[in-house]
Formats: sequence, C-alpha cells, structure tokens
Amino acid sequence: MLKIGLTGGIGSGKTTASNIFSGLGVPIIDADVIARQVLAINQPAFAETIQLFGKAILDKNGHIDRGTLRTLIFDNPVKRSALEQIIHPRVRDAIEKKAASLQTDYCLIVIPLLIESNMQDLVDRILVITANPEKRINRIQRRDNTSLDDVQKIIDAQIDEKERLSCADDILMNNNDILSLENDIRILHQKYQELAKSVS
Ligand code: ATP
Repeated sequence: MLKIGLTGGIGSGKTTASNIFSGLGVPIIDADVIARQVLAINQPAFAETIQLFGKAILDKNGHIDRGTLRTLIFDNPVKRSALEQIIHPRVRDAIEKKAASLQTDYCLIVIPLLIESNMQDLVDRILVITANPEKRINRIQRRDNTSLDDVQKIIDAQIDEKERLSCADDILMNNNDILSLENDIRILHQKYQELAKSVS
C-alpha cells in the first residue's frame, strides 16, 4: 500500500483536492477527523487534555471545544507541546492502523501539519498543495468570512511556504479554477497508481 501524505497551508485547497481524489475512488484518511475521534468523550486523551487545561475547554455538550484549545495553545509553546504529546502518538497509531486495513493500491492521508508535527515517516510520498498567498487569503475570507488580519495571523504562524515545498515529492499548484485542479489530480492519480504497482 502506497501512502501519499497530502499537506498544505491554510486555504491551499487540501479539502477540495482530497474530495477530488475521493471521487476517483482513492480512500482518504483525514488526520483532523482522527484527532477529533482521539479527543472524543471517554477516550483516554479526553481526560488527559482536561487535566492539562481544565474544564473551561468543554463546550455546553461536554465535548472538548477545539477552537478554544487552538486559542489556548496559539501563544503557548509549552502547553502546545504537552497537548501534542497527548494527541500525536494516538493519531499516528490510528492512521497506521487505518492504512493497514485498506485494500487499494494507494491511499491519501491528509495531514495539515505533516511537516510541523514530524509525521513524514508515516507516508511514502509527500504531496504539497499550494497557491499564491493572495489567492489563499481571498478564498479563506470568502469561505470563513474572516478578517484579513486574522487570516494573516494564521498564515504567519504556519511554517514558511518555501520550507513546506522543499519537503514535497509532488506539488499541486492550485492557482486556477477547479477544473484545472481536477485535471492535475487525474494526472497524479495515474502516476500514483503506476508507482503503487511498481512497488507492490
Ligand atoms: P484549511 O487549511 O482552512 O482547512 P484547505 O486547505 O482544506 O483549508 P479548502 O477548504 O479546500 O482548503 O479551500 C479553501 C477555499 O477555497 C474553499 O472555499 C474552496 O472551495 C476554495 N477553493 C479551493 N480551490 C479552489 C480553486 N481552484 N478555485 C476556486 N476556489 C477554490
């Protein structure tokens, strides 16, 4: 099983691209979905996270509010690292188990923080999706109705785009319309299928 790790900065088009791969029949493993499951009520990470941050991180239904968590760790590297120690090993474990259970030639593992959280070893190839900063900012503002300042803050807190791109085996430039992205993904899909056959 060939494992392709898809990553990219905020608003680069990870979700859009993974939906297109999914439409081609490629199984998608989403690290964000897994992280949510890891933090679900009754999971060991749930209690450990409350121990670290207190019950103020719970929403009115008693679930961990990930937005509140994100705000709390934004400017606090010590707590960020402690939280990562709770979540990352479990996310890694779940991704590996899920990938091992699949029967297809290859799968796509979407890990927004693939480089930042040193998960490169989980995948065989790294696919980075990117777009010009103005395009990304524009698309996020339109999608989330956020201020330019807020989007810029998130972009500034993420690793430098050049550094992310330097880790890429393949790059998807998402500067044009969706049709063009679909076309580029079809070409990559073909390449990954061939690669998967050659290694199996
Ligand atoms: P995040 O990091 O915030 O989770 P993401 O990397 O998953 O974002 P998407 O949600 O896929 O990015 O894309 C951001 C926004 O841009 C979405 O509203 C999406 O519909 C739009 N978008 C993505 N690619 C294109 C494109 N080629 N043309 C037009 N709109 C696009």
